[in-house]
This record gives sequence, structure tokens and C-alpha cells, in this order.
Amino acid sequence: MGREGGRSSENAERVLILGAGFAGLTIATELEPLAKAGKVSVTLVDRRGTFLMGLAAQGVLTGRRGPGERVRSYADVRARHATFVHEDVTGIDTQARTVRAGSRDIPYDVLVLALGVEAAPERVPGLAEAAHNLCEVTAMVRFKAALESIDRGTVLVLISRTPFKCPPAPYEYAFLIDGILRERGVRDHVRVVVTTPEPQPLPAAGPAVGDVVRSMMAQRGIEYYPNRKPTAVDAAGRSVTYEDGPTLGYTLLAAMPPQQAPKVVRDAGLADASGFVPAALGTFETALPNVYAVGDLAALKLPNGNPHPKAGVLAEAQALTVARGIAARLGAGRPSAYTGSGVCFIEDGRGQAARLELDFLAEGGPRATFVPPSEAGLAAKDRFERDRLEKWFEG
Ligand SMILES: Cc1cc2nc3c(=O)[nH]c(=O)nc-3n(C[C@H](O)[C@H](O)[C@H](O)COP(=O)(O)OP(=O)(O)OC[C@H]3O[C@@H](n4cnc5c(N)ncnc54)[C@H](O)[C@@H]3O)c2cc1C
Repeated sequence: MGREGGRSSENAERVLILGAGFAGLTIATELEPLAKAGKVSVTLVDRRGTFLMGLAAQGVLTGRRGPGERVRSYADVRARHATFVHEDVTGIDTQARTVRAGSRDIPYDVLVLALGVEAAPERVPGLAEAAHNLCEVTAMVRFKAALESIDRGTVLVLISRTPFKCPPAPYEYAFLIDGILRERGVRDHVRVVVTTPEPQPLPAAGPAVGDVVRSMMAQRGIEYYPNRKPTAVDAAGRSVTYEDGPTLGYTLLAAMPPQQAPKVVRDAGLADASGFVPAALGTFETALPNVYAVGDLAALKLPNGNPHPKAGVLAEAQALTVARGIAARLGAGRPSAYTGSGVCFIEDGRGQAARLELDFLAEGGPRATFVPPSEAGLAAKDRFERDRLEKWFEG
């Protein structure tokens, strides 16, 4: 890929995938045999020329890797018969069935919205100026340097709003911060504090998992304040005010910013009041015919009515279901039901990671199994990334 104008027969169904992240790459890879056979024309659009997993930011913070490692170019995707358009998507016209990307309009028969989320720090005044963004690799380079020079004070990990991608990530960050400060011998003088609007860690995984994560924080002396929704950050005075609790001072602030579907999607009227795109759990169809929403930008509800968590492994599973549904309609293979299951990892700041085996569609409600931290768990997190990079990219 990397080049435009992939081959396909004249009347092949045109599948247009917006976003080449976990979900977009999965669909393009899965449809590759059909694209190669000319039975479908696949176009993948992304404003970036390269892919890097979100979890890279944690590897960078720990110093396990540099910010340029495990970056893959879209010129090297295995879906060689898909057309990659390296442009910003600026308009979606579902009446005309076209998408504006750069200076061209791309027509489609099937549209897959897989643009992930964008940060909306402006929803907490002062946040953008004050906080290191826990979702950005470059921010984690700066945050690492700041953590290496702090000797006393408070490091505040702020979860601003729900939902946010990768529910374990801020807790992992707290453990990593604790580990870094201990290694430096300054932990006794630096408070590590987590605040969140959530009632408990990882609410969708149930109370037992929440209790385990709370006790991991308690063991490390990490202070935890749930049910705290920040209203503003005073960057000059270094404090955060909350809707439902006292103001908290900090020395270093790192935040999971508020998130929403990208502007182009909201401008097209595809998002609801939550800021995300409503879609049916299991088919991932939106209210519009032949328009699907998968991954972080989708507003999905679990059978118990709770919001469906956002994670790469789940975005991938949703995308697989959509891709196999498209293929089956074209007479290739069978549709595969969405399982709502996957494995997440929680690094513990001591060179290990816990495994969280999740089944959100289990009979009787979501089921989660917590496998305590181990070095094998951290190796499995590394393998999770490598396996996907190998599946999606050559070389
Ligand atoms: C620190 C951290 C750790 C994480 N760890 C894990 C983990 O261990 N396991 C896990 O499963 N998940 C993890 N995640 C979550 C995971 O990264 C996301 O859930 C996943 O990337 C969502 O996939 P997606 O395809 O919906 O969106 P994305 O992967 O975000 O892809 C969206 C793509 O759309 C493109 N795009 C957006 N807007 C436009 C536009 N207007 N025009 C063109 N292109 C555009 C973007 O450039 C991007 O490439 C982590 C996230 C973070 C931040």
C-alpha cells in the first residue's frame, strides 16, 4: 500500500475505511484476499503516515524504549491491494455517499468509521496548559524528564472524564510513576495521587477487579480519590478544583484528557449528545445504511446498559466482525459474531504486568479474571504488540 489506485474490477463493492488504527488496519487486513481477487475495493484513509500503538507511551515513560521504536509505515501494510490515502478527512456526506479527504471526494458503498477519539482538554479549563497528556508519546518524553527531576511534592494522575480509552492505563501510569520515584529514592517525599470521576477503577470489569486495583494502589501508598470530576485547573497556582471534593494542589500533573469522536464525525451529525457515534452492539451498524462505527469512536452499550469499554483489543474484535460480515455478503466465508472478549494488561511498576481476561458478553453479565502481576505478564504485553504489528505490517 502507501500508493494510491489499488486494482479492482469496475463493479467491486467500494469499502471506505476512515482511520488506520487498530480497527481500520484489522478490516483492511481481513479484506485483503477479497481485494486481491478484485471482489472488493478497499480504501484506507489516515492523516498519519505511520502507526504506533498507544501503549508505546508507557514503554517510553519507563525507559524500556525510545519514542521512535516500533513505529510502522503505512507503506508497509500487508493489505497491499488496499489503497492508502494519506490525508485528513475533512467532510463526510452520507447523502452523497462521499468523503472529503484532502482535496478529493472519495465515493463509497460501505463506510467504516474508525477514526478513534480526539482529546477535548478545553472541557476542563486550564487542563491543556497544565497537564502532560497520558495518551501522547511525546508528552511522555517530557513527563519522564519531569519525573526524573522532582524531589518532593505531589504527582497527580487526573482522569478528567469518562469514557476514556484503555480503562487500566491511568492506573498503570500511577504504578509506573511510583516505581520510577522509588528507583530514584525520592518516593518518601513525593505523594502519588489518582483522582477520577469513576466510582471505582475499571468499573465495567466489576467490583472484584476494582478492589484488586485499589489494593495494589494502597500497597504502594498511592492515594486514590474516586467520584471526583474536575472543573478547572489553575496552571499558575498548580491546583485542580473538583465538582465534588476539595481543591487539590500538585507539583506535576498528568491527565487522561476528556475524549470525543473526531470533529469531522460530529460535524457530519453522526455523534449523539455523548460525543460518540451510536452503533448497534454486535453488528456495529449506525442509524445509516452501510455505515459502520467501530473502536473508540463508537458509543456502544453492553447488554446490562452500561457503556462498552474502549480498548484496542476490542476495537480489533469489532472490526473483525464487520470485515467478516462484508466478506460473507460477498460470498466469501461466514460472518463471525462479536465476542466482546479480550485480554488487557496492567503494568505494576515493578517490571511485571497483571493480565485481565475480560468477557463483556458473558451470560449473566461481564466476567473478568485477574491474573496477578508477573514477568510473564509483561512479556505477554510485549507479544500483544508484536503479534499485531506482524499481522498488519511487513518487515
Ligand atoms: C497509554 C495507552 C495505553 C494503551 N494500552 C492498550 C493496551 O494495552 N491494550 C489495548 O487493547 N488498548 C490499549 N490502548 C487503547 C488503544 O490504543 C485504543 O483503544 C485503540 O487505538 C482504538 O483503536 P481505533 O481503531 O478505534 O482508533 P485509533 O487506533 O486511535 O485509530 C484512529 C486513526 O484515525 C486517524 N484519524 C483521526 N482523525 C482523522 C482525520 N480527521 N483524518 C484522517 N485520519 C484521522 C488517526 O490518525 C488514527 O490513526 C491504550 C491507549 C493508550 C493511550
